[in-house]
Formats: sequence, C-alpha cells, structure tokens
Amino acid sequence: MRPEPGRAGLPLDVRRSAGSSGRDAALVEAVLDALASPTVLLDPAGRVVLANSAWTDAGKERGAPILPGADYHALALQLRDDADARRLVRELRELSRGERTEVSVDRSVPDPAGSATSWFHVQASRVDQAGHVVVTHLDITARVRAERASAWRARHDSLTELPNRAHLHELIDAELQHDRCPAVAVLFLDVDGFKDVNDSLGHEVGDELLRQLAGRLLDSTRAQDTVGRLGGDEFVVLCRDCDAGGAEMLAHRCQATFEQPFDLGGRTHRLSASIGIAAVPAGDRAGVRSTDLVRDADLAMYAAKAAGRNRVRVFSPDLRYRVQRKVQLAAELRGAISDDQLLLHYQPVIDLTTGLVTGAEALVRWRHSERGVLPPCDFVPVAEQHDLIIPLTRWVLGETCRQAASWRDAGAPVVAGVNVSAVHLATGTLVDDVVTALQGAGLDARQLVVELTETSAAEDPARAAQQFRRLRELGVESSIDDFGRGFSSLSQLVAIPAGVLKIDKSLVAGADDPGSQSAAVVAAVVGLAEACGMRSLAEGVETAAQLQRVAGLGCRYAQGFHIARPMPGDEFLRWFRSRPEQGPPAG
Ligand code: C2E
Ligand code: MG
Ligand code: MG
Repeated sequence: MRPEPGRAGLPLDVRRSAGSSGRDAALVEAVLDALASPTVLLDPAGRVVLANSAWTDAGKERGAPILPGADYHALALQLRDDADARRLVRELRELSRGERTEVSVDRSVPDPAGSATSWFHVQASRVDQAGHVVVTHLDITARVRAERASAWRARHDSLTELPNRAHLHELIDAELQHDRCPAVAVLFLDVDGFKDVNDSLGHEVGDELLRQLAGRLLDSTRAQDTVGRLGGDEFVVLCRDCDAGGAEMLAHRCQATFEQPFDLGGRTHRLSASIGIAAVPAGDRAGVRSTDLVRDADLAMYAAKAAGRNRVRVFSPDLRYRVQRKVQLAAELRGAISDDQLLLHYQPVIDLTTGLVTGAEALVRWRHSERGVLPPCDFVPVAEQHDLIIPLTRWVLGETCRQAASWRDAGAPVVAGVNVSAVHLATGTLVDDVVTALQGAGLDARQLVVELTETSAAEDPARAAQQFRRLRELGVESSIDDFGRGFSSLSQLVAIPAGVLKIDKSLVAGADDPGSQSAAVVAAVVGLAEACGMRSLAEGVETAAQLQRVAGLGCRYAQGFHIARPMPGDEFLRWFRSRPEQGPPAG
C-alpha cells in the first residue's frame, strides 16, 4: 500500500489491535496489501480509509481509481443499482453498527468495456468496536460463467440447442400458471420413418436432418412460441396465447415447410411428420400440468400416425379412453397367455397341382371371459405394443409344433404355418424360439413354415433376410404373407430367402374376371415370384371360380373359405381324413 495524501493514519482501534507503534501499523498495511483480492477498510460511515494494491490496480483498470475518503456505499450502488447491491449496502451498515457478524454477498458488476459482466464475492468483517469494516472482493466470474454454461447445457439439447424435455416442461408449467390464464396449446411432432434415414444414411446424416428440421420449425412458428426437442425425432412446440384451432393452422404450416426437400450433403431427402395437438382454452386451467398436456398431445400424435402419415390430430378424451382400454386389455392378455385362454384354429392349404392338403396355417384366437372368442385383429396389435407378442408367439409356436407332430403321427404330415411379427425379428430371439418349439415337440424342421407379412418384411428387409437365412439353414421355410396389400416393391423383398409368396385376398378377389387388372397383377406376381425362386399361394379363395382362376394363373397353392374355414386341430384331422385323394381341380 502506497502512502497517499489524505491517509491520515489508521483508525484508533485498528492501530490498537495492530500494536501501538507506527511500525505495527505499517505491518497491518503490509498484511492487507499482501491479500490478492481487492480489499478496502471502511470507516463507520462507509468511507474508504485504506485500500490495498489489488484494489487500486482494479480501479485503474476501470479508469477510475477509488481514493481514500470515497463513499463506498454510494460507489457500490453507482456501479450497478440492483437488489444485490442494495442488500450489500444495507448489510454493511448493519455490520458496522454491530447488528450482524459478517457480510457475504455475490454481486455482478459491468465490465469496464460495458459489454460483459464480472462477478464478485464480497465478504466483510467488523474490525473494531468503532465500526470499521474490512471488505474483500473475490473475483468469481470464471466460476459463475462455468455454472451458468452448465445450467444452460442441462436445460438444452446439445444437437439442436433447443430447450430439452425438462426445460420444456418448466416453460409449459410456467405458462399454465400465468396469472392471465391465456389459451395454451402444445404440438407434439414425430418425424415419419426417421429410423429409415438413420439406418440407411447413417447417424451423422440423421443428426444433420434433425438440425435442419429444428431450423424450419423455428422459422414456421411465431415469435412467442417455443420449439423444443424431447429426444430422438420428437419435437414439441409450446404455443402461447393459442387455442386448438390456431395450433392446427400452425401444425399445417410446419408440415408445409417439410414439403421442400432437405439438402443433406448434396443428397436431397423428403420427409413428413405426424403431429398431435393438446390445448387448454383461456381461463380454463383445472389443475392441468405440463405432463398432462404433453401426454395428451403424444396420444393425439399416435392417433395421427395410426391413421396414416403426415397427419394432424387434435386430442379428444375418447383417445385417452381407448388407450386405457388397450392397457386393460394388455393386462388381461398377459394373464390369458399363461392361463390357457388362447386357442388355435388351423386353415388348410392345398397344392393346386395335386389337390392334396399340404399345409395348415395356425391362427390364434382368445377365449375372453366376458367378450367371447376374440379374433387376432382385436388383440395381436395390443400384444405388439405391450411387449406381449414374444410370449404369445412362443405359445403359438409350441402349440402348433405339438399339433403338427400329433397330425404326423395320425398320418397327416402337413406343414404348419405360424405368423410372426416384425417385433419378434427385431428382438432377435426368433430363431432360438423356433428351435425350442421344434425340439420340444420332436417335429422335423421341414414341417414348419414361418409367415411374415410383406409390410413387416419391408420394414427391415436386411434383418428379415438374415434371420430367414438362418431358419432356412435349419430346414425351416418362410413365406411372405399378404403380398399386394402393402404396396412394397417386390425388388425390396427378393433378397429375402422366402420359399412362398402368399398373394393377398384383395388381389385374389379381383381376379375373378379374367380380363381384370387384378388377374393381370396376380399373373405378374406369380411370374415374378417364380423368377425369384418362390412358389406362390393364393389367399382368401372364396369361390370355385376364384380357385380355378388362380390355378390357371399359375399359383401353386391356395387357401380360403371355399376350401375350408379355420378350424380346431382335431376337426382339421377329421376334415383331412374325409378328403378324397384328388388330382388338380377340374376346369
Ligand atoms: P393372415 O395370416 O393373412 O391369415 C389369414 C386370415 O384370413 C385369417 O384371419 C383367416 O381366417 C382369413 N381368411 C382365410 N380365408 C379367407 C377367405 O376366404 N375370405 C376371407 N375374407 N378371409 C379369409 P384371422 O384368423 O382373423 O387372422 C387375421 C390375421 O391375424 C392373420 O392374417 C395374421 O396376420 C394375424 N394372426 C393370426 N394369428 C396370428 C398369430 O398367431 N400371430 C401373429 N403375429 N399374427 C396372427
Ligand atoms: Mg398368415
Ligand atoms: Mg395372409
């Protein structure tokens, strides 16, 4: 501390505490001066009595060194008159009067250039009875900035820099608690088929697509809306002061901006999105929370997706009721699988070249205690959505293999077909489950065929191909079911080593008329299947004319109500035995 005019000496009490000699007073000055943090000694009125070198240097940097005699309180407020500064001044006065033992305040001050802010931890203690106070100022700017950056990161998505799930919920809740109670709407947006982009073009391209998509959402929403990302390909838009109708318009505007192709490193890509909306009208809160609103918008999005891609759907309470029913059904189904409430009916398959019965497709039913016998369309999708399809299919595989072994022993060695779901392929246990069922029943692998629908196979042809190849190595054949319903291209499916292509009943029904388009399509499909090494099977043959037509068009097998309806296993055996051995159907 350099001697300066006006520093008339240390206050009495300070001098006394440091000793009575001038040498000791100099020692106190030297101690203060050795402190790295800017430090000042204030008199009871808050005027600067002493200031150390760090304080003087800091003052010079600001271009306004604070000299002894200056009013510290006034200067503190002059730097930035905010709540922290006012608290600091109040507490320093209290400290000086002995009404508190210390002061500890974090405060921000503008940087000399004015463009940024510095942060200081200000700590003060009283040093004598008269009320002199020592104030130290520790620069904590780096720590505060690091904390702020980490808090920002915790509330934002690193890929798009949009608010993340947690922050979105905070913002929506804040809006719902707004005193004015304005209308609030939430848009829940999910990209259609995003997984295909990631799988086919790679995650980096997928990330780039999400960034561009975030940009387009920001461009198409209003200034008062907030766009956030929940994760994956799911985005949420918080629409302030906006009812369901307004949100629908906004949703269509967002969809329209996706119609322009995305440029992904020179490659263009088109995409669409399904959007669900949930809204609360102005004034009507009734304890609605952000989690309710986002969940309802999510349900509406699922309904939009289920109705086909690129749609917008506004939430209505019946959607929740439907979901609750499904959840209840799933719980019941879980018990039904273990309680033997499932049963199988078998539909015969005949070889059109010999007229012989060569196969039987196992079709599951559920004997529900209150609702009677339910068809698979009432519960297989529920099983797929609630992690029940694997236990269900394992049960069907085991039961079918046992039934086929028993028919074989009774002189009816037919090939039994079991329908499998795409979910099963995705979990990767299909091959093991098939092996377990065959071994459990002592059935030859050639007596089992696994059916996968065209749309399921097209979801991930590479995965289907890999698992069907392993099944084929074991001797189990596979077939592609319902071909012609899902509009997949055959070229997408030729790489899948399936033995049989099952032509969907919609095409078979239309093939009645020899000159019809359906007849031409069936003929083309039969030819293409043959070229790919597959045999074709006509499904849903309901009339003699259809049977004759599909035989004439070159189908190898047929199945349908005209031949036989699905029936229980013992009935199937009686039906099999009752059939006269016959040649190809007469014209
Ligand atoms: P799918 O595999 O294509 O089975 C044929 C469906 O067509 C059966 O309906 C059958 O009763 C019906 N059908 C057969 N012949 C005719 C006909 O001449 N005319 C008409 N209109 N329909 C006919 P079902 O039993 O209701 O099964 C429907 C679908 O449920 C099956 O279609 C299959 O995709 C699925 N499914 C059935 N059982 C299972 C199963 O164990 N697991 C899985 N994952 N899905 C199953
Ligand atoms: Mg089938
Ligand atoms: Mg089918």
